[in-house]
Parts: sequence; structure tokens; C-alpha cells
Amino acid sequence: MQQHIDSYDFTGKKAIVRVDFNVPLDENFNITDDTRIRAAVPTLKKVLEKGGSLILMSHLGRPKKVDPKFSLKHIVNRVSERLGVPVQFADDCQAADAQAAALKPGEVLLLENLRYYAEEEGKPRGLADDATDEEKKAAKKAVKESQKAFVKKLASYADCYINDAFGTAHRAHASTALIAEYFPNDKMFGYLMEKEIAAIDNVLKNAKRPFTAIIGGSKVSSKLGVIKNLLDKVDNLIIGGGMGYTFIKAQGGHIGNSLHEDELIPDALEVMKAAKEKGVNLSLSVATVGAQEFSNDAERKVFDIFNIPDGWEGMDAAEASLENWKKIILASKTILWNGPVGVFELPNFAHGTEKIAEYVAEATQNGAWSLVGGGDSVAAVTKMGFADKVSYVSTGGGAMLEAIEGKELPGVAAIRG
Ligand code: AMP
Repeated sequence: MQQHIDSYDFTGKKAIVRVDFNVPLDENFNITDDTRIRAAVPTLKKVLEKGGSLILMSHLGRPKKVDPKFSLKHIVNRVSERLGVPVQFADDCQAADAQAAALKPGEVLLLENLRYYAEEEGKPRGLADDATDEEKKAAKKAVKESQKAFVKKLASYADCYINDAFGTAHRAHASTALIAEYFPNDKMFGYLMEKEIAAIDNVLKNAKRPFTAIIGGSKVSSKLGVIKNLLDKVDNLIIGGGMGYTFIKAQGGHIGNSLHEDELIPDALEVMKAAKEKGVNLSLSVATVGAQEFSNDAERKVFDIFNIPDGWEGMDAAEASLENWKKIILASKTILWNGPVGVFELPNFAHGTEKIAEYVAEATQNGAWSLVGGGDSVAAVTKMGFADKVSYVSTGGGAMLEAIEGKELPGVAAIRG
């Protein structure tokens, strides 16, 4: 049975908490952005205040073996600063028995990177490139088998389990899902997970109308499931960025050298048809800022979206598109935004995405409820100083997309189930 952090009695108990401490580090291992650590603090402080102790577990980066570059020891001091208590460190997440057993109420132990072990993700490592299917299958079976002992060891350290790592909630890993089995009556969400789930429910289940989704980014293929699920929910669907050109080509437009996916043209046509049938206002770009090369200093020219000359590619949303989208966004009561409407990494082509951030913030000031997720969209609202002018900024791009696609996230299911 799922518990709640507010009502659970932590007195004298050890809580193992899956946090997302996958923070960016510079070449000297200094943390360049500790948002993720700060995001976990309310949950962690609550457990300590209520008389519990903490065993924290996370991944950092994508190590394929033990690699000091990805050691969580680099972040011990910052976690300690943010929590205001000393933090002990266990330099092997599978050999922390004694340290965990010795923890007293109010104490904190951080485990070394879970992904030093293949068992965390449950995927075989070190397979030869020419491995046969048989060998792959056997390796997969072996890691799944050893994963059981890995999970059991982590679970043995604690009396209860908290998942507060939304960023990995879409993965059925040892620490994000499998471990919950060992705590059938002592498992719960952390506050961050709770807020993320509530934010998604707010748009998918309780949206006030008009509800507008703005979906951008590079490829239709990576967000087709999201688009299809949204067609049943939204009043307006704005599709911008690289993925928009497949829709224009599908209608016979000339898109020059713009990014597109020919094999997704049938899907694009289907989305357009479904939008019409469901009464969804599908708003595509009408004009683009093009360039002849994928470079910040490239000459920029505005083109009608159906007539981009050969040699030019659409790189950013032009004013005519932005005007249409501004009207739609400002008239909305619920807004969901994921993905840039241009090549946001190149400052000269970031204008469209920055304007979207501005419109979403303005609509929110006027009473709309807005959820922003995904690396570039979050970077845009942050860069423009609007992070606290939108209703909620999601900490998990991939997890948020899967939730919007209508999938139940393994990390969520494991707590609820
Ligand atoms: P995604 O990860 O799917 O949200 O896509 C983000 C990427 O889409 C960013 O790296 C952008 O540079 C890219 N992108 C957005 N618009 C365009 C465009 N018009 N042409 C090429 N890439 C784009």
C-alpha cells in the first residue's frame, strides 16, 4: 500500500530515497547547476525533521563501469550544504551495509553512482560488436538474474522507500521501480514526484479550455505518440521547429533543405486528418527564417513556409508564424509546451523559441495554467527570466513526454501498485 510522506511515521526509520542528482559538472568537477539537488531538498528535510535517517541513491552521467569521473563524491559537499547537515559517503552502493546499519536519526548517507553496476539499468554491458543473438540473449538473462541480488541489497539498507526522481520515472530500473517490491507497505512518492504528477494531471485531466499544446523540436518520429494523444485533449495544437517541415512537405510544400522525415509523411497526413475530424485547430508555421548553412553566423532570410528555395533550410520561426501563435497562446487557459520552435542552441535562431517563452509567461500572468518541459523549452524560459512566471517547469523531459503520451511511468506504477 502506498504511503504519504506527510502521514508516514519516520521515527527511528531509515528511508532509502531515489533522487535525481544527475547534475552537470565542469572539468574540475564543480557543479554548474544544482537545481536537481535543490529540487529534492523538501522531501529530504521532511524525513530528517520527522526523526528518520536518509540513504540517498542516484545515477550521475552514463558510466559503463566504475569511473571516478562520474563519482557522486563530487557532490557530497553541495548536498550537505543544501541540507544543512553532514553527509556520509559510501563508495560502493553494494557494500554499504555497515554504514547504513550505523545511521542514526537525522543522519544522511549518499551511495556511490548506481550506474557503476549494469544491474541498475538491467542491460548487459561489454558485449562484443559481433555478438550473436544467442549471446545477447544469454547476457541479458544473466544481468536480469544478478539484478535481483542488486535490488535486494539496496532494499536491505532501509525500512522504507521514497521515489523522488521524476527524471528517471519512465525507466523500470532497479532503484526507480524494482526496489518498491521490497516495501509493499512502506513506499511513497517524494514531494517533487508528487508535484510533477499533479502538473501532468492538471493538463491531461483537468485542463481549462481553451487548452493549447505547443510541440516543437527536431523530429516528428520522437513525438508522434505525444501528438496523437494530445489530439484527443487539446483545442489548439501548435507544431513548430524542425518537425513542422514534414507536415509542410506532406501538403506538397517546397521545403528546400529543411529537416524532415519522408517516412513520417503518412503519419503527418493522418495527424492533420484526425485534427480536422476532432475539431482541433492544428497551427503550423506559415513563414520561416532560413539559412544556407547550419551555423550561427549564416545569412538569414525569411521565406514563406511552402516556398523555401533549394540550398536554404528553415531554422527558426518567423514573425508571421509567431503572430499567429501569440494570439492562440494568449487566448488559452491551459498551456503545455515541449520543444523549441527553432534551432535554439544557435543564438541567432533562438528568437522564435524565446518569444514562445514570453507568450507563455504572459498568458500565465493573465490567468492561464502552464506547464513547460524539455531541455530547450526549460532553457528558454530560464534564460528569459520567466521560470517563475510559468505555472510549472518540469524537471524531466523524457518522463514528461511519456506521461503525456498516456503511458503509465514505471516509477509511478511501482509506488501506486
Ligand atoms: P527535441 O530534442 O526533439 O526537443 O529537439 C530539440 C532540437 O530540435 C534542438 O537541438 C533544435 O536545434 C532542433 N530544432 C528545432 N528546430 C529546428 C529546425 N528548424 N531545424 C533543425 N533543427 C531544429
